[in-house]
Amino acid sequence: MIEVILKKGKEKAVLHKHPWVFSGAVERVIGKPENGDIVRLVDAKGQFMAYGFYNDQSRVALRLLEWDENVAIDEQWFRGKVAEAVESRQKDILVDGVTNTCRLIFSESDYLPGLIVDKYADHLAVQVLTSGIEKNLAVIIDELQKLLNPASIFDKSDASSRTHEGLDTKNIVLAGIHPPERVEVKENGITYNINIAEGQKSGFYCDQRENRKILAAYAKGKKVLDCFSYTGGFTLNSLQNGAASVSSVDSSVLAVETLKENISLNKFDTTKVTAIPSDVNKQLRKFREEGELFDIVILDPPKYAPSRSALDKASRAYKDLNRLGMLLLNKGGLLATFSCSGAMDMETFKQVLAWAALDAGKQVQFIYQFCQPEDHPVRSSFPEGEYLKGLLCRVF
Ligand code: SAH
Repeated sequence: MIEVILKKGKEKAVLHKHPWVFSGAVERVIGKPENGDIVRLVDAKGQFMAYGFYNDQSRVALRLLEWDENVAIDEQWFRGKVAEAVESRQKDILVDGVTNTCRLIFSESDYLPGLIVDKYADHLAVQVLTSGIEKNLAVIIDELQKLLNPASIFDKSDASSRTHEGLDTKNIVLAGIHPPERVEVKENGITYNINIAEGQKSGFYCDQRENRKILAAYAKGKKVLDCFSYTGGFTLNSLQNGAASVSSVDSSVLAVETLKENISLNKFDTTKVTAIPSDVNKQLRKFREEGELFDIVILDPPKYAPSRSALDKASRAYKDLNRLGMLLLNKGGLLATFSCSGAMDMETFKQVLAWAALDAGKQVQFIYQFCQPEDHPVRSSFPEGEYLKGLLCRVF
């Protein structure tokens, strides 16, 4: 097996079982590995440290898989990791009354760097973000078929991070049929139509499952504004819990159309919902000019900070958005605000909200902290896996 020698002084993260080795930490490669090959990482004295996927095109030269020298990274190893991840979801999440849609495999957090698998009822959507997973995909797909026997497995590898690994984007059937245009899933007792091939992400934002439920408990009799509504996750949960009205705003016309479909699908009162295909920043300013106020404002924007270097600019964007949200609340109203930027931690997010409150001339109480659900676990040795956070704020 090809050996990669780590630079002296770079051992700490590897010993702490962090799964990334940056290219700058590599002293030398003995031999000529292909991208995606499994290599042996050794320290400067030649002592074994870990096995990992190699890639010379990525900033992350090695993605570590195993720290025990005696464990072989073979077909059985991949099958074992897939099975462990799937079984944990089957036990805790894929149960009656909760949901039939969830993230089955969450990349590094499930010890499979670069592999995302989402389940939508009887269909699976896969994203392959590393050349190492790409090379071992056949056995992974075979194991998924053995465990779940899905109607379809669709490769939705259109994520931009693939290009950093020198991989093309893809949109192909890996097994079974082409996923139908509409797949019905159930979450918190609500039915959603999912378009796996055309929808955003792999079709649905199942990472907000718990947060939708928690927030909806406050919605009874309330006038709600759901910003960045996508196909209606927060809108539908609010209606189910007796919201008086919901205004839902998203710039994607396809998302807004699907939201309307979902309202009918669940037989909710369509007269209670105003679905607005618009830019949120524009729409919030329009509401402000019209003097419109709400009891609950939800802000669930896309990732503003793709990296740490983008954090300053992103913080200003989060601040401006939240300032506008606060200004549209009745006194004592609730702001549910999220950030899915991994680069922004909870402390920084709280500071951004404090800044927004000052600019808006408001007082804010943090009354609840939202996080990502158990099918998006955070591995203790990989804090980068934590990305979704939110705050429920009472605004005076
Ligand atoms: N709250 C949703 C998920 C939101 S994902 C749920 O529970 O499912 C972010 C959404 O923001 C996407 O649907 C995207 O279309 C939308 N979006 C991105 N930029 C936008 C903008 N400037 N104005 C309005 N919507 C935007």
